[in-house]
Amino acid sequence: MGYYLYDANGYIGDLASNHGLWLMSEYVTQVTDEPQVKRFFEEGEAPVTKELIAGLKAIHCRDRDIAATIDNLVDLLARCDTIAIISDGTDVVSPELTIHRGTHEIGGSCVELCSNSGNTRLIIDIGLPLVNADMSPFDWGTHRKSTLPQLLTEKILPPVDGLYENDKPAITAVLLSHAHLDHYGLLQFVHSDIPLYISMGTKSLAEVSNVFLNTSVKLDNAKTFEMWQPFEVGEFKITPYLMDHSAPDAAAFLIEADGQRIFYTGDFRGHGRKGILLERLTKDPPHHITYLIMEGSMLGRDEGLYPDENSVEQALHDLILSHKGLSYIFTSSQNLDRLVSIYRAARHSGKTLVIDLYTAFVLDKLSTISPSIPQFDWKGVRVLYSYYHAQKLADLDKALLYKYKRAKIELEEIRDNPNDKVLLAKDSRYFRGIITKLKDSSKAIAIFSMWHGYLERSDLGQFLESHGIPITEIHTSGHAYVSQLKNLVDALKPRWIIPIHTFYPEKFQEMFPNVIQLNDGEAISL
Ligand SMILES: [Zn+2]
Repeated sequence: MGYYLYDANGYIGDLASNHGLWLMSEYVTQVTDEPQVKRFFEEGEAPVTKELIAGLKAIHCRDRDIAATIDNLVDLLARCDTIAIISDGTDVVSPELTIHRGTHEIGGSCVELCSNSGNTRLIIDIGLPLVNADMSPFDWGTHRKSTLPQLLTEKILPPVDGLYENDKPAITAVLLSHAHLDHYGLLQFVHSDIPLYISMGTKSLAEVSNVFLNTSVKLDNAKTFEMWQPFEVGEFKITPYLMDHSAPDAAAFLIEADGQRIFYTGDFRGHGRKGILLERLTKDPPHHITYLIMEGSMLGRDEGLYPDENSVEQALHDLILSHKGLSYIFTSSQNLDRLVSIYRAARHSGKTLVIDLYTAFVLDKLSTISPSIPQFDWKGVRVLYSYYHAQKLADLDKALLYKYKRAKIELEEIRDNPNDKVLLAKDSRYFRGIITKLKDSSKAIAIFSMWHGYLERSDLGQFLESHGIPITEIHTSGHAYVSQLKNLVDALKPRWIIPIHTFYPEKFQEMFPNVIQLNDGEAISL
């Protein structure tokens, strides 16, 4: 049993053992004349004043243990806001944390924070799993027709009472970190009376997915937050931090709850086009973090050949420039960093980038938050219409079809002049049809610019090979390298670190001395 130091904002640091506090207190009250120092030890609480700190600094004790404990106290006082409180932690209210899913896997993240009073229950992320219990890839298609109770029984929906449409709502709010389905893909089952907080970019991308990717996420009542602007949810204060990630407008959250300061990283990295954000965060971090809930996707993964987005752009450029025929690039239309790299690589190689209607719509919709991303009407960009995409877009707003028409390209034009084209492709029946149709017009190459795992799971490689198209992988991860995880921990100096979004939570313990490894569904009092 020990004693801790708190200020009005919560936990500051470990002060001393029971015995250590008693020894220090006995000694200090005997030798000091400073009334504020005496009061601090008598009442266990005092305003942090120059007199208090000077009074403690003036004490020189020959006993090394007592002297070290006083030094520690002085260091901790320097971190307190206006008041210092000695506490054994028993009367301190603390929220309860439950990671419903994500302690031992990447994907399906769902975190709950419940205030001590029980009046505020916050859910952070509600994602689709990426793997099944036996670690095989999760396929939403096989569960799409299941009812809500079935999804709960099948453990696809995490068991959170008061969260779903079939229950009486008892959750104060749902907070989403970013627009990747493994963080928000189960949102459609959340009770529509529960408020949702998301960034503008996340909302826009989720709306695009509703149109093109057959998701049916309810966004009508979504409240959008501004990065770095605190807002309140029940008893909690939340400050979003813009992070560098492969999804644009991704957020981390500082959550101030019952005197604890919790930092949830979401997914992040420091080697994308917004890598500066991680640098800024580590240079000017939020202070007094008691719990850091940090992603660890890259643990156990190879960092790959391309360390950052710039090296990806360079490699794309070199390959496209050196190739005399058509280039297919397979990537996600929602990875804006990558679309910028592909556009620049194509332009600097003197080639035209052909995008599909879905990509044109993503870029158009996100232009308000990212004014520098390429657009359908930019020089060197053309749009290939497919019946399927045109139908989807027409259902949403027919005017958009006419808007993008200015940049429309016909397949015949690509067939007649394939060598100066870079075609953004997807692993879909439609694109396989295009590749088959263009087979004889040009000697094509394919570039796979996504996570290697997607290629492994598909027969795309075989398909391309059967058409004589060599495939090259050029990609950099959307997740933080081990060195970047360490940099963030060094800067935030959290009291405790809780791993999430990783297949190897035990590796955290090899890297950091202060790790709390949880299991899914295990509730802890912070
Ligand atoms: Zn993500």
